[in-house]
Amino acid sequence: MTKDHTISKIGKSFEVLDHIDKNGKVDKRRFYDKNGIMRLDIHTICHGDNDKYHSFGKNIEHVHEFIFNDDGTKLLKKIS
Ligand SMILES: [Zn+2]
Repeated sequence: MTKDHTISKIGKSFEVLDHIDKNGKVDKRRFYDKNGIMRLDIHTICHGDNDKYHSFGKNIEHVHEFIFNDDGTKLLKKIS
């Protein structure tokens, strides 16, 4: 778990990290792939201008999917 504003792009292999908002609730959960590179975010909040492109669940939860190159230095694709 982290209380930082952002969650690191690089983690451990298949790690899952939660981000806690100021009220102590999990607002973001990040999943890492086998190389420890971020792969998927699940958000339970609205957080920015590109949110209008998401399809939201009924509790505004939504998923961001990221595809990086093998060493995580370059974002190849983001699926909102
Ligand atoms: Zn989001």
